[in-house]
This record gives sequence, C-alpha cells and structure tokens, in this order.
Amino acid sequence: MEKGDTRGRRFDLGRESLVIRDILERPLASLRVSVTDRCNLRCRYCMPEQEYVWLPKESILTFEEIARLVTVFTSLGVSKVRLTGGEPLLRHDLPALSRMLAGNTGISDLAMTTNGLLLAKHAAALRQAGLGRITVSLDTLRPERMRDLARSDRHADVLAGIAAARAAGFPLKLNTVVMRGVNDDELVDLIEFARAHEAEVRFIEYMDVGGATGWSAEQVVSQREILEVLSARYGAITPVATGDLSAPAERFRLPDETTFGIVASTSAPFCRSCDRSRLTADGTWFMCLYAERGTDLREPLRSGASDAELGELIASTWRGRTDRGAEVRLGLANRAPLFQVEGLRADPHREMHTRGG
Ligand code: SAM
Repeated sequence: MEKGDTRGRRFDLGRESLVIRDILERPLASLRVSVTDRCNLRCRYCMPEQEYVWLPKESILTFEEIARLVTVFTSLGVSKVRLTGGEPLLRHDLPALSRMLAGNTGISDLAMTTNGLLLAKHAAALRQAGLGRITVSLDTLRPERMRDLARSDRHADVLAGIAAARAAGFPLKLNTVVMRGVNDDELVDLIEFARAHEAEVRFIEYMDVGGATGWSAEQVVSQREILEVLSARYGAITPVATGDLSAPAERFRLPDETTFGIVASTSAPFCRSCDRSRLTADGTWFMCLYAERGTDLREPLRSGASDAELGELIASTWRGRTDRGAEVRLGLANRAPLFQVEGLRADPHREMHTRGG
C-alpha cells in the first residue's frame, strides 16, 4: 500500500510543511479534549456500571492549562478541536473555555459532543463564545427506551437542547450508536427526525471500547446492514465524496438529497487515515481510543516546562505513533470486550468517558 493511502483515502502530502506526521504518515491534526470524566447518563455501551473510580479532583486541568496545551498542539498543526467528556456541559462555565479556544487562530473547527441534557441552558452562551458546531448524542426517539438504555428519564431535555442549539444557529449533527435489538428499528425514524431538525445523523457502529463491558459482536449492526435497511425504505443510496479524507464518518445521500453518515469503526476501521488524538481531563494524551497507555502532559506542564519543551514532547511522541487499534481488534478471533470491570477500575484512563468519545 502506498504511504498515506487507505481505503481509497489519500492524504495531501504536500500540505503545510509544519505538520507533524506519524510513522504511517498520518498528520497530527485533530484533538479531542475531554473536560471532565463525569457524566449525567449511564449509557449501556459506555458507562454501564453502578460505580466508578473518578480522576482525582486536583488532577483535573484548569481552563488555562487546557488552553495552553491546545496552543502548543495548534502550533504543531492541530486545527480541529472537539470538546467532549464525560459530559462536557457538566464542567462549570464551559462557554469560558470555548471563548478562550475561539481566540486561538490555529483552530479552524471548534466543536463539541454532548448528550444534550444541559444544552438548552447553555446553547446561546456557547454560540456567543465562539463554539462552531455541536454534535448531540441521540440514540432513541423514545423516552421509555432512553430510560432503559441510559438510565435517564430526561429525553425531553435532550430534545429541548437540540431545539436550542438550532435556534442559536449551530450546525448540528446527531450521533446514534446502533445496537441490535435495542434501537436498530429506529434508523428511518432518526433520519426523518434529523431532516425535520436540519441536522445530519451519524450512525455509529457499537464499539468494544473502554467501558463497553457488555459488548458482543452479535450486537453490532454493521454499515452494510444499516445501508440495506435504509435503501429498502428510501431507494438507491449514493456515497458523498468528501473533501475531509480523515473524517470518521462516511457520508451518504438518499434519493431526496438527505445526507447521513456512518461511522464504521468496528466493521471497517479507518485507522490508516486517523489524525485524531485525545487529551483527558487530567492531561493524559492518548493517540488511539484503544491505546494501552497515554502520555502524561500534566506533570511537565505543572512543573514548569516551556511551550517549546511541551511541543517537543508532543511532536516526538506523535512521530513514533504506530497505533491501529481498531484494525488490530478487527483481526482478532473471538473478539470480546476490551476490558472487564476490574481492569477499568485499576486504571480509569481506560474508560471511554475518560478518554473522550
Ligand atoms: N457525553 C457526551 C455525549 O454523550 O455525546 C460526550 C462523550 S460520549 C463518550 C461521545 C460519543 O461516544 C457519543 O456519541 C457516544 O455515543 C460514543 N460512544 C461511547 N461509547 C461507545 C461505544 N461503545 N461504541 C460506539 N460509540 C460510543
């Protein structure tokens, strides 16, 4: 395979010379910043347990520390930043962090992923603070199903959050993790809902990441199956050519021009074009959702490292990156959840809600 060329996706190798590339020629371009490991939902595919080991309070980065690290990342070529968690809106005064990041001219795309519960309250302030885009997780349109799936009876709050985000002028995406026998009968309803709310839905294959201790291959509804269901209902579906070669979702178009995406991270991983890394709320930097270990940036940050020193640590770590976690998982016979509860309790950094989805 040609360097940088995967599944027909090709990096623009002639892009800015400052871009830091890993061993597979993947650029350091996109950073997900988890601002808290806490969440106000208990989704079955992410936080199914009754109790959790949380990151120590004193280890959580301040907004100033996050903004400084992000500045170092953008000086190395990162241009896309997504605030996530846990539930990012549980972090007090998130618009203040958005404002600080919006002032970073290296960021061309500042986004947030939220479960929407608190969005109605904060949407307008986030917009004013310069946040560019919002993705709301919406796994079901049925309140009673949300009770079962996420142990919450606040479905109406999510819908209010979606309405408020639109009213505030945000471009909106909806994330739906599709699970067999749980919500796979709602694909068409979700497409219709998204269309009615001027949003684009992205169906995500159920992944065997961190907290998904109940994962099994049988529960995964693959991209192929999703397309079969939707084309049976709508007719011929065509792929949408995208300019963003590293985007996790492949986009598709229905005959009536409605677009939607599928993130086929389980059945057809896109590791070879993955330019994403993740900063946890305590300043641990992960270069793959499946990585065993992260790089501690908090310690050097708090012990007086200069921007140049932090930059050198980040650049040299990325240059050595070889991770292809989802592809490696795909090759496993008898694939089972990545961790069981004991393993997650031993190191909460293994949790998806700590790494940031
Ligand atoms: N709390 C926010 C939310 O719910 O959107 C942000 C964090 S959440 C971990 C980010 C995304 O990760 C969500 O869209 C969620 O659906 C996705 N996610 C979590 N666990 C997953 C799994 N096992 N498979 C696929 N997607 C998962």
